[in-house]
Amino acid sequence: MSIDYQSLAVKGVQALSPYQPGKPIDELARELGLRPDSIIKLASNENPLGPSPKALTAVREALDELCRYPDGNGFELKQALSVRYGVMPAQITLGNGSNDVLEVITRCFADPASEVVFSQYAFAVYPLVTQAIGATGVSVPARDYGHDLDAMADAVTDRTKLVFVANPNNPTGTVHGAGVIEAFLERIPAHVLVVLDEAYCEYLQGDGYVDGVSLLERYPNLIVTRTFSKAWGLASLRVGYSISSPEIANILNRVRQPFNVDTLALSAATAVLDDEDYLQRSRQVNAEGMKQLEAAFEHMGLDYIPSAGNFIAVDVGERAADINQLLLQQGVIVRPIAGYGMPGHLRVSIGLPEENDRFIESLARALDSLATAETGKGA
Ligand SMILES: *Cc1c(COP(=O)(O)O)cnc(C)c1O
Repeated sequence: MSIDYQSLAVKGVQALSPYQPGKPIDELARELGLRPDSIIKLASNENPLGPSPKALTAVREALDELCRYPDGNGFELKQALSVRYGVMPAQITLGNGSNDVLEVITRCFADPASEVVFSQYAFAVYPLVTQAIGATGVSVPARDYGHDLDAMADAVTDRTKLVFVANPNNPTGTVHGAGVIEAFLERIPAHVLVVLDEAYCEYLQGDGYVDGVSLLERYPNLIVTRTFSKAWGLASLRVGYSISSPEIANILNRVRQPFNVDTLALSAATAVLDDEDYLQRSRQVNAEGMKQLEAAFEHMGLDYIPSAGNFIAVDVGERAADINQLLLQQGVIVRPIAGYGMPGHLRVSIGLPEENDRFIESLARALDSLATAETGKGA
């Protein structure tokens, strides 16, 4: 007799569809018979500069230790983070990417009786981890594509255990200022935990900088998560972390896998925190690339959502899926976000100037060929 394994899976998992990552370069190369180096990927908000030389040196030096388990406490990385951000090492929880930390938080604090609040168009991992543990996700309608924090505070009930806020948000790039975040935290009851996901905070500059860590003392129910995958350029190594009260970190530590961050990742992340020059260049390349894409969209008459991250969502209309295909055929990978409920938008990561140019030219060609096809049909 055949067994329906689907029915054996726990309820939350039965209805789950897996996270859809950006298409890997090698996959498109195989599909199109192209050389990988002829393809550009602007689909996963990776740092276009490549890794910092300091990270590369640290990884090479760490190679001899591959036979040993990593430092499960991440002593040196926590030291470096604690100096940089003015917190105690006991407030830091390391993860295999911040994705891991987000999942650990959810497993520690929510169960099938709980509600977890997040925004429409927010990062896909929040509903995913919520559903996987069988909790009830409460998706609050967005305002101008951003988090409607008042509505999110209103959505908190007796059953709410967690609220996720991405600031800046992915895939929309929307951001709230410090005052707005504080006003929101004021409205959240002390027994509800707020996860402030700051995966893109390194791209915020000057007056626009919002720093969740500075709010931890006043709001002990706050957990700030950050990552080395974006501005720090280490997406492949999988390192992220949270900063919270030591009490919360202690709880997260019980569920965290003992060796969730490997030696190469620990070494590279520690080393890159010393490379202020790399961070500066990353910000610079991003700010210039953002202007380049905004100008091109305006020139083409396309609406876009102003973004505080290292990516931008552009409205290409109802033919977005076709345009995405036409971009892929030209060796350009961007991110369709229909899965986020935004079927008319494509999310494009900011690349190097020449990558941005190539994307802009390919997009113009795709729009042209669709327009020509339309006219052809009409005639
Ligand atoms: C990319 C991203 C993350 C997580 O990335 P990791 O590589 O797992 O650290 C978390 N939150 C948001 C909003 C992101 O865009």
